[in-house]
Amino acid sequence: MTVLKQSQLDQLVLKLEADKQSLLSEVREELENSGNQQHIELLNREPGDSGDESMANALADFNVAMLDRQIHGLRDIEAAFRRVKEGEYGVCIDCGDDIGFTRLQAYPTAKRCIVCQEKREREYVQEGHPSM
Ligand SMILES: [Zn+2]
Repeated sequence: MTVLKQSQLDQLVLKLEADKQSLLSEVREELENSGNQQHIELLNREPGDSGDESMANALADFNVAMLDRQIHGLRDIEAAFRRVKEGEYGVCIDCGDDIGFTRLQAYPTAKRCIVCQEKREREYVQEGHPSM
């Protein structure tokens, strides 16, 4: 279980929501500027019952390279909301420790505590993958 206080969790959820909105407005802008009719139709689609979950997937289907960063960000945020719902938000997916409020404030989509994150990045580098 997460040790985040409800007020802290509320604050982080608000931040995730704000980050999501700013990513979506970037997406909107990119799609509008693309001049591609299909993309513009996607914009006009009402967010349906399927909810936010489908937004990143719908965008990914379009395979819009310029939106890679936003799609990635939206997926992270969607995953974070899912963890909030399941009561797993703020808990490291590797070691089960608390990620900590300070770290979450800086990275509201963090899935790992700082120790596991650094360990993972080191391993990635050793395997020859560039770290994020
Ligand atoms: Zn950890």
